[in-house]
Amino acid sequence: MLKVHESKELQHQLPSEKLRLPKKLYLPLSQHTGRPSKACVSIGKEVEEASTIALEDGLISARLHAPQKGKITAIENYWHPVLKRAPAIALECAPEEKRYQIEKDLQHYSKDEILEMIKNSGIVGMGGAAFPSQVKLKPPQKVDTLIINGCECEPYLACDYRLMVENLDEIFKGIEIVCRLINPKEVIFAIEDNKISIKKKLNHIRSLKKFNIPKLGIAVLKTAYPQGGEKQLIFTLTKRRVKGDELPFEVGCLVHNVATCFAIYEAVYLDKPLIERMVTCAGDALCAPKNIWVKIGTTLKELFDEKILEFKIEPKKIIAGGPMMGIGLNHLEYPILKGSGGFLFLTKDVTELEEGPCIRCARCVDECPMQLTPLEYVKRIKKEEYAVLDKFNINDCIECGSCAYVCPAKIPLVHYIKIGKNYMPKKK
Ligand code: SF4
Ligand code: SF4
Repeated sequence: MLKVHESKELQHQLPSEKLRLPKKLYLPLSQHTGRPSKACVSIGKEVEEASTIALEDGLISARLHAPQKGKITAIENYWHPVLKRAPAIALECAPEEKRYQIEKDLQHYSKDEILEMIKNSGIVGMGGAAFPSQVKLKPPQKVDTLIINGCECEPYLACDYRLMVENLDEIFKGIEIVCRLINPKEVIFAIEDNKISIKKKLNHIRSLKKFNIPKLGIAVLKTAYPQGGEKQLIFTLTKRRVKGDELPFEVGCLVHNVATCFAIYEAVYLDKPLIERMVTCAGDALCAPKNIWVKIGTTLKELFDEKILEFKIEPKKIIAGGPMMGIGLNHLEYPILKGSGGFLFLTKDVTELEEGPCIRCARCVDECPMQLTPLEYVKRIKKEEYAVLDKFNINDCIECGSCAYVCPAKIPLVHYIKIGKNYMPKKK
């Protein structure tokens, strides 16, 4: 694994701030793995905060809610950080906010009722993949190990860390709910050793025994990239390998990010659907980095218009996510999605560097956490030999970007790998 420059120290220290209520929100129907949700409101409809505005479509899909009271003004294509343009619901917001204060007593609810609450709240994995949580929480075979992912290994990002500092009890209430649903033999809470203050809090919580969680282990892993990748984390902690197209339950594991556990707590205890999240905004083009609670659908532009964020220098590169796995954005009109952990505003664009010839130094092979041979992919993909890629296990690639990071020839290896995965013949 890689030792990358973390650039997190400042963001780790910054308490989260709450954004003033947004004026307009753009809510893409596709902000999760699976089929886009289907709008169930029409233009002109007045909606209350937390009311459903789009329903899940099929098993792997997620519901969408109005993050604020307001009026639907459009359902049309809008900017999307991953898909570039995709159908979205536009909401003109009223300056009012709902309060969610009363915690339910969960004793009277069955597992199925709790699972239904999670499904109805549109919860998806908030570590990036945005897989619908209700599907993960009903695995088709027994899961013995629940891993709570508090690693947050992408440089710059600190929102998971701040959530652990500020809301650890609520995260544990979410973990308790997950345990009730899947009944694991053990829970491993994993953090990196750059979050040592959290270790003390975790030990304290464990000693109090106030949560109904079986065998709680605390794993403090070396700060390295991509320590927090799902497959990587499972292998590091259990030595079980999740191959190419397999899912973690197939090796008896379930991984949930800390922010997802917090969202599960809010959904089940407070009846609050997934309508806001914390994001880290950082980078040397900003006057100051921030950890901000934002309503889903808020555009980056609104954060600057409202002076929540300010540029010191015009950025050369804007990234949705971290520098290793994030996606480049070309303007500020993009909305924040359920899976958005952060945005970077940088004065240098490293992708402008010119690609040189492969010098067969094998650094990409040495650094690949999945023991793959990225240089072979590039060679084959350039020759359009897509059928052979399967032999080199290209589907085991988690697109972590470590190979491209160390490549002295500046070959955009992940870009080639994505092309290869897309064009290789599909298995029947
Ligand atoms: S790191 Fe880059 S230059 Fe070195 S072998 Fe891999 S692809 Fe080639
Ligand atoms: S080949 Fe894939 S898994 Fe290996 S380092 Fe490159 S991006 Fe990461």
